[in-house]
Amino acid sequence: MYASDGYDADLFGGVRFDTTADLVIPPSLIDQVIGQEHAVDVIRKAATQRRHVMMIGSPGTGKSMLAKAMSELLPKEEMQDILTYPNPEDNNNPIIRVVPAGRGKEIVAAHKEEARKRASSKNTMLLILVIGILGIALISGQLLMGIVAVAFIFMAFRSFMPKETAMVPKLIVSNKPDSTAPFVDGTGSHAGALLGDVRHDPFQSGGLETPAHDRVEAGAIHRAHKGVLFIDEMNTLELSSQQSLLTALQEGEFPITGQSERSSGAMVRTEPVPCRFLMIAAGNLDAVQHMHPALRSRIRGYGYEVYMSETMNDTPENRAKLVRFVAQEVKNDGKIPHYDPSAVSEILREAKRRSGRKGHLTVKLRDLGGLVRVAGDLAIQEGSPVTSVHHVVSAKQIARSVEDQISDEYIRRTRDYDLTIVSGNLVGRVNGLAVVGNDAGSVLPITAEVTPSQGAGMVIATGLLKEIAQESIKNVSALIKKFSGTDIRKVDIHVQFIGTYNGVEGDSASVTVATAVISALEDIPVRQDVAMTGSLSVRGDVLPIGGVTYKIEAAAKAGIRTIIIPQSNLADVLIEERYSDMVSIIPVTRIEEVLRYALVPEDKEAFEQKLLQIGKHMDIPKMPMP
Ligand code: ADP
Repeated sequence: MYASDGYDADLFGGVRFDTTADLVIPPSLIDQVIGQEHAVDVIRKAATQRRHVMMIGSPGTGKSMLAKAMSELLPKEEMQDILTYPNPEDNNNPIIRVVPAGRGKEIVAAHKEEARKRASSKNTMLLILVIGILGIALISGQLLMGIVAVAFIFMAFRSFMPKETAMVPKLIVSNKPDSTAPFVDGTGSHAGALLGDVRHDPFQSGGLETPAHDRVEAGAIHRAHKGVLFIDEMNTLELSSQQSLLTALQEGEFPITGQSERSSGAMVRTEPVPCRFLMIAAGNLDAVQHMHPALRSRIRGYGYEVYMSETMNDTPENRAKLVRFVAQEVKNDGKIPHYDPSAVSEILREAKRRSGRKGHLTVKLRDLGGLVRVAGDLAIQEGSPVTSVHHVVSAKQIARSVEDQISDEYIRRTRDYDLTIVSGNLVGRVNGLAVVGNDAGSVLPITAEVTPSQGAGMVIATGLLKEIAQESIKNVSALIKKFSGTDIRKVDIHVQFIGTYNGVEGDSASVTVATAVISALEDIPVRQDVAMTGSLSVRGDVLPIGGVTYKIEAAAKAGIRTIIIPQSNLADVLIEERYSDMVSIIPVTRIEEVLRYALVPEDKEAFEQKLLQIGKHMDIPKMPMP
């Protein structure tokens, strides 16, 4: 009998547990990856065939995890150490030697021992010489001369005898003898960290200088030799670095030189240093489109490109995997207590909510992992031996994105200044809804004003929203014409999105724009206790939009009581319980329903007649009032 038996058998996909401590976590990293079956497949193939991979997708979906897993999967190979040696013929061209892993340390140790021995015999020689000179000086009564001679000898030794340590090679890449292939994350590296560098030497001469080979530092590409080099957000690398990366990929070796032009290191250039790594380049679609075209083509030509999933189907198997995910995160964190079934079920609910799609679970697992950790921290704070549902519920309040917090602050502020109107009726003003960032909504009022046009009618909208407004007005112009019989070419339509800031999603405002324009044209007031979101077809069908849950929550927070959403989004709605009593949701399929609900006409009959005009010639049944 397990604690999870009290829940619906399917909820945890058949997994039975008291706490997540009972679950078995697969030992290899690749088996821990969840919801990325395609990418896992590709990584397995790429590892056996030694191919490069490009991963495209949102942050926190497991890209670097997969890259690390690939390094574990690479066929076993002899790892190598890389050493730099002084070059007696050309100081500025250090020699590179490659030896089996583990040998590097021994070689350096042997050289150091040798140097120490030589230094001590040199010191003995020096001591005998000094005693001798001072002795002779004392006997002959020329002590002052003797001291001067000793000082000269000291200086000569410093300047002309080579320093013993100058001959000791430097280990720049070191591996353990039986280690697996290295995984190196080169994300955001500057050129030196990526390609290797030679440090500046402030002395450069006079016996105080550090020899060139001793100032050489390996780059990420060299440390990834025979392993995996992972670079996220590829486009943030300078173009010249990307070019060098391409050379390194093609040649399998890359000399190290000082990266800073003004440094003495820039004069040094080693022999080519091996760097046969597999490249995993990652980023969102934008990153890929802005990366060096030759580099991209090289990776594509000798490897795979994969698109990372953002959601997975809500099936018992996938739910079982998410249960294991909670166990994995708790184990990896190591500081938080395991989860009981109630807490896991709340995490599953949140995974569903965050997917924003019906029948799906999110695979943006880094963020979900964040929630797992915050809830665990709360359990610790309380001294609880397990994490329970109330910890997860409180954690959701704390672990919110910055956008969500800003959105709250914004709602509070606009309320202070009466910018948010949530009661009464107004002509030409509609409460629309928008998504900010990934997981925050905001109320976005839209106002429209119609004036007779001096010339050809225009749509006048301001700022960033110009195109969106124009597009949506074009889309709804047929409907407006049918509804009001007005030819919109004879009027100027001014549309304003009030108090917007960046990140407003475009198309989901078209229902709102249409309602605002029709209200302004017809002089019919709009209910302000209603908010709406939806995209609109030219025939008046209300089409699905994204982020419906967050939009509804934002409206609820702002004090709006009724929210019109596309019928097809109804199954995506997964609002937090505390909001569910605050709002009623009206799903619609046609613009007529929106207008009927939101507008408050004086002459109801004439209004109904006009509504019928919209659907005229269309084979749609007369909709009942929602
Ligand atoms: P990305 O590189 O795509 O930004 P990471 O691989 O760095 O994301 O993911 C960060 C953490 O989130 C991982 O260490 C892991 O704990 C968790 N995680 C992300 N995606 C997955 C996944 N698909 N399966 C299991 N855990 C994941």
